[in-house]
Amino acid sequence: MAIYFLSMINTSEAKGYRPKEYQNFDDLRFVCDDDDPNAVVINIRPSLSDDELERAIITALKVKLAGECWWLSDKIKNELGLPKEQTTITARIGEADTIEVDVYNFGESLSDQHKAQIVNIIMTAARINNGEIIKKVKYIFIGKTDKQNELTGELTSGEATLRNNYQAIQIYPHGLRQDKHRTGLPSSFEATVAHEIGHVFGDKLLADWENEFGWKKVEQAVIAPGGRAIQKTTSQPCVSDYAAFDPAEDLSDSVAVYLLDPEVLKRIHPGKFKFLEAHLPILSEVVHVKSENKSGVDIKLPSIDNTVKYKVTRKKIM
Ligand SMILES: [Zn+2]
Repeated sequence: MAIYFLSMINTSEAKGYRPKEYQNFDDLRFVCDDDDPNAVVINIRPSLSDDELERAIITALKVKLAGECWWLSDKIKNELGLPKEQTTITARIGEADTIEVDVYNFGESLSDQHKAQIVNIIMTAARINNGEIIKKVKYIFIGKTDKQNELTGELTSGEATLRNNYQAIQIYPHGLRQDKHRTGLPSSFEATVAHEIGHVFGDKLLADWENEFGWKKVEQAVIAPGGRAIQKTTSQPCVSDYAAFDPAEDLSDSVAVYLLDPEVLKRIHPGKFKFLEAHLPILSEVVHVKSENKSGVDIKLPSIDNTVKYKVTRKKIM
C-alpha cells in the first residue's frame, strides 16, 4: 500500500499573472571559470584566432545547452508551444531517494483517468532497481500534433528515442485512446506510456534480448508499411504484431505487459517474463507518491541558473 506524503513543491514563484515564458539564451550570462568542477566543458579548435574565439565559444555553449535542456531548444519550443497543463509526480523510494517527473501537456486537457494511469506507471517503474531506471525519465510530454509511425504507416502513439537527450518521452494525441492496446492490455494510453518508458529501460538490454529471443539480421532489409527498413527478424512469438517488427519494439511491448500485467506475461511468454524479472526486478519497497496539477499561469517551466560557468579546452578533434 502506498502512503501519501506532502512534497515540497514551491509554488510561490508562480503567483504573477504574466503568461509563462521559456527561459532563453538572452536570459543567460556566460562566465569562464576554469576552477569550477561543474563548469560546462566545451572544446574549441586550436587553430581559431582570438577574434573568432569568443563567437565560437558562445556558439558551442548554445549548441551544447540546447542539446541538453529542451526548453532552450528553439526547435522543440516551436514544435510544442507552451504547456497548458503540468502534473508534477513526486515519489520516494524506500527511505532514500526522491524522484520527480513533470508531465507537460501541450494538447487537449488530460482526464483524471489519464493522470491516475500515469501516476500508476511511474509508481510501478520507480520500484524497479530501486528507482535507478525511472530517474532517466524526468519529463513526459503530451504533444498536440500527431505524426506517422515509420513501421506501421498509421498514426503513432508515442516516442522515446527522439527525446532521449532530454530525459523525456512523448505521447501523441493518438496515444491518448483508452481502447484495448495491441498487446491486449486494457488501455492503449496506459500501455503506451509504459512502452515508451520501456524504450528508456531497454537500451542497455537490447543486445542480450536479441540473442535470447532469436532476433537475427535479415540478408536483405524489408521495407515496413511506414517506410522504415526492417533489418531483423525473429521466429519466436511476440506479445503483439507490432512487437514482431523490431527487437526494440518487442522488448518495449513486453516491458509494458511486464509492468502492467506481469501475470499475463508470465503465463503466455514465460521466457520473456524471466528475462525481465532478472534484469528489471520489481522490488517490494513502498513508494510514496504525490501528484500535483497546475494550469495556466501556475505552470512552472524548467530552467537552469542564469549564470552558466564554462571552461574551454583546445584539443584537436580527429
Ligand atoms: Zn516503441
